[in-house]
Amino acid sequence: MRLATFMLDGQRHVGMVSDDARHVTLLDLPAGAADRGVLPLVEMAVRGTDIGTLRGRTVALDSVRLEAPIPVPRRNVFCVGRNYHAHAKELSGSVFKASNADPAAWPIVFTKVPECVVGPTDDVALPGEVSTQIDYEAELAVVIGKGGKNISRDEAMGHVYGYTIVNDVTARDVQMRHQQWDLGKSFDTFCPMGPWVVTADALDGTDTRVRCWVNGEPRQDASTRDFIFDIPTLIETCSRGITLHPGDIIATGTPAGVGMGLTPPRYLAAGDVVRIEIDGLGVIENRFVAPR
Ligand code: MG
Repeated sequence: MRLATFMLDGQRHVGMVSDDARHVTLLDLPAGAADRGVLPLVEMAVRGTDIGTLRGRTVALDSVRLEAPIPVPRRNVFCVGRNYHAHAKELSGSVFKASNADPAAWPIVFTKVPECVVGPTDDVALPGEVSTQIDYEAELAVVIGKGGKNISRDEAMGHVYGYTIVNDVTARDVQMRHQQWDLGKSFDTFCPMGPWVVTADALDGTDTRVRCWVNGEPRQDASTRDFIFDIPTLIETCSRGITLHPGDIIATGTPAGVGMGLTPPRYLAAGDVVRIEIDGLGVIENRFVAPR
């Protein structure tokens, strides 16, 4: 299933996107529930409720405006900082210089604030004078279904509800300036997400292709088979002492090819368009615009 959040006739709705991505069938949720996007659907799935009985009318997908599937996550988005070997290498002299030397020792985990999430085609606003080094990071994001604490690797995949795409937009100078990364990762609009959530039965997140283009120029292209820390390890790590809840999001890290890793570095400017595609999931495409 592909579950989307969208605006139609001035109201937020959730629905199931058809296999050919041409139509979406609205789901009739209790009043106000769709304001939380697909989160209520995740919670219903955990309770064993069949959402098939909620089907309403079907409309053309191009008649709606897609929003982030979870427009405001219930709390910060967990993010993994160094999860492809080639990316670990390209930033070994900068971002990862002060990190623990052995990339295979422990995952780097930081968070982005929930309010920086925007939709799959929304503009990303450059932040102004606070940063001149804005960068993209194409990432597969895991959406947690059944919650839990101290989830073992062996049981972890049973806690995955589905997947979506995230652009972990980053202000590199701000990221480098502070010991912690959260500020440079959390500027308003710095987490484009979408185009929908694909449920785990319909996509193997452990073996899919992540690609990114800037103004049509290929920049990132890798398989999630190349992860340093696989999805079960990430879930085990994030849930160690912290209870995960339905709808929590873990962005799994970005492949090589970020702007900072190029020689010389190439950062984003107003007018640039970043397109991210993940096989079996879809596409998000966001224009970067002047500060507002
Ligand atoms: Mg990232």
